[in-house]
Amino acid sequence: MTTVAEIHASDNWQRSMRDGIATLQELLEIVQVNENSIDGMQPTRGEFPLRVPRSYAARMRKGDPADPLLLQVLPLRAERIDVPGFKNDPLRETGLASQGVLKKYHGRALLVTTPACPVHCRYCFRRHFPYADQVAAKDRWGPALRALRRMTDVSEVILSGGDPLSLTNRRLGELLHLIEDLGHIDTVRLHTRFPIVLPERVDHGLLRLLSTSRLHTVMVVHCNHANEIDRSVRAALEAVARTGTALLNQSVLLKGINDNADRLESLSRALFSCGVLPYYLHLLDPVSGAAHFDVPSSRGTELIQELRRRLPGYLVPRLVREEPGQPSKTTIG
Ligand SMILES: *Cc1c(COP(=O)(O)O)cnc(C)c1O
Ligand code: SF4
Repeated sequence: MTTVAEIHASDNWQRSMRDGIATLQELLEIVQVNENSIDGMQPTRGEFPLRVPRSYAARMRKGDPADPLLLQVLPLRAERIDVPGFKNDPLRETGLASQGVLKKYHGRALLVTTPACPVHCRYCFRRHFPYADQVAAKDRWGPALRALRRMTDVSEVILSGGDPLSLTNRRLGELLHLIEDLGHIDTVRLHTRFPIVLPERVDHGLLRLLSTSRLHTVMVVHCNHANEIDRSVRAALEAVARTGTALLNQSVLLKGINDNADRLESLSRALFSCGVLPYYLHLLDPVSGAAHFDVPSSRGTELIQELRRRLPGYLVPRLVREEPGQPSKTTIG
């Protein structure tokens, strides 16, 4: 039984997602930043459209063109510059997915559930991904589930996208129940940025799905800077933790956003205070249009060494890079 209150609650996040900021002009107005003040580069509309939840923009510092949240979503002319080594499909995933299931690593399979994201991160490695061909089509999980049923060596299903929490609770629930019916699966993992960028998505219906599943539940959120965590994000994360879901974070190491030890230390501490352990710090995937975020791996190694001096081991993320064809992510430093 779905209560009226829950229906309204789910309406709210869907409306917030639909009504996100979609033009550069509006974003700059809200953050009170003048186009000409942006580091010598003129922002421009990219082929990957701008999309920012209003509650996320509200966490940006007003009048600061270098705000670390703003920089993650701001389209810049630099995206159009071709840089050698930066490609449309840097992980060579395009041909790998069959029926929306991507099995690159032992024991785990990744299900591409939906192309939709609540926010468009300019550094995203999926910005050129041909989702239309890969996504387990709307209301047809059949082929993906049949593929998973044959993968008897897989025990963990990773729901990815896009962002799997773009699915309504009803559709997510249907999918979870189908996965629960596969006897060889014991764990479901969600990779999502919603609790960070649109925390109202963590509603009663979602919490109930997490707490009632027969599967072990793992949520890997994606937070890059401590300023992303405000009171509503904290409440959402704490609510997820109370369902017994293991909470981990992955970040991307991004130039000008989190490429210094103080910021990474604050991030780890802020996450821990909400019940989240740092998991991965990814080197940027060399996707075309994102070269201006690139931090050399030698700098990443220095940063991790500094974090090891400052933090308990469990608050130091693993510095990794994805290399096509490798049996796992590659740990660096
Ligand atoms: C990162 C990733 C995983 C999960 O890897 P873990 O090391 O278990 O976090 C699984 N499948 C794909 C395709 C991935 O990119
Ligand atoms: S939320 Fe994740 S998948 Fe979506 S644009 Fe951002 S980095 Fe990419």
